[in-house]
Amino acid sequence: MTFLSATLDRVKPSPTIAVTTKAAELKAAGRDVIGLGAGEPDFDTPKNIKDAAVAAIAAGRTKYTAVDGIPELKQAICVKFSRDNALEYTPAQITVGTGGKQVLYNAFMATLNPGDEVIIPAPYWVSYPDMVLLAGGTPVTVEATLEANFKITAAQLEAAITPQTKWFLFNSPSNPTGAGYSWSELKELTDVLLRHPHVWVMTDDMYEHLAYDDFKFCTPAQVEPKLFDQTLTVNGVSKAYAMTGWRIGYAGGPEVLIKAMRKVQSQSTSNPCSVSQYAAVEALNGTQEFLAPNNTIFERRRDLVVEMLNQAPGIVCPKPEGAFYVYPSIAGCIGKTSAAGAVIANDESFATALLEETGVAVVFGAAFGLSPNFRVSYATSDEALTEACTRIIKFCESLR
Ligand code: PLP
Repeated sequence: MTFLSATLDRVKPSPTIAVTTKAAELKAAGRDVIGLGAGEPDFDTPKNIKDAAVAAIAAGRTKYTAVDGIPELKQAICVKFSRDNALEYTPAQITVGTGGKQVLYNAFMATLNPGDEVIIPAPYWVSYPDMVLLAGGTPVTVEATLEANFKITAAQLEAAITPQTKWFLFNSPSNPTGAGYSWSELKELTDVLLRHPHVWVMTDDMYEHLAYDDFKFCTPAQVEPKLFDQTLTVNGVSKAYAMTGWRIGYAGGPEVLIKAMRKVQSQSTSNPCSVSQYAAVEALNGTQEFLAPNNTIFERRRDLVVEMLNQAPGIVCPKPEGAFYVYPSIAGCIGKTSAAGAVIANDESFATALLEETGVAVVFGAAFGLSPNFRVSYATSDEALTEACTRIIKFCESLR
């Protein structure tokens, strides 16, 4: 008998964090490592947001707050949802947590019973299936293949729904693929959901503002207002406002669900950091002017990475609509051997050999539930990206 909970046997530690740790170890040992594993913007938090936090500290706003968010922030979130997504929530329908991650976790803890199923398109953000398992539910994955531009179809969704389905988890633009669903593609999915009113939608809109070319972000309850009362719309300030360390995420949804999520939070962490909440008010209410220039930089980096990776023999890299990731296939490298003698049996051995032989750290696709691929985060400098892609091309050229 072990001292640790049996629940923990069902989940694995985050593979993205494992890759970042391994890359840091090699770096500490003096190796020239380029990390393309981190899921955070390399930009600094905008000054107006930092100033708001400093002002909050000076004003003594450093005490406990209401469990799931200060009224000013809930109000700012209502305005944001109305302005950006045409969704009309009241403050009682809003919850704020310590990052989008806690909000998603609260929602699963508040709703899942043993046997409840959650439909998760794969590849998925690494935490989704494990959160579902921790909350006692059953993840049901549906493959979104490269050939389908990493998007699932209405028929696939329909086939995955059972009487036990509680949630459909939707994430567009996606981590890890960057794929974004157009209005009509999403409408096809919401049409299916209309036929299954016992299924609720949890939409993770974390990458809403990171959309390129002429791609227009849309969210399920906006595309199909009839789903409003069975949708939890999750968002946060981490990615668009370069605020990953401030830990503020939020959601809008039916009051009964929001109350239940508040109960979970009240007995676990209580309120998210008070100072960060005031910073988030400024992020949402203040100027949005830096979003466009930041996106121009990300779009250029995406184009650079897609162009270079497609020059690597054995790699096929689609051009995604948003986020700051690409998810190339390495199907053409499988079965080959590296210069140092490593056999590329799967995407994990590809990523390991790539890191050990070239110093480029990427996350292998199996971690996200779709192989053989790897994820590149291009939220780093053009110079680092160019050097990393050059090394990847050389590595693939050297495979025999
Ligand atoms: N959802 C997705 C798809 C993500 O990629 C992340 C972070 O990597 C999160 C949610 C959580 O973001 P945070 O907890 O920083 O708000």
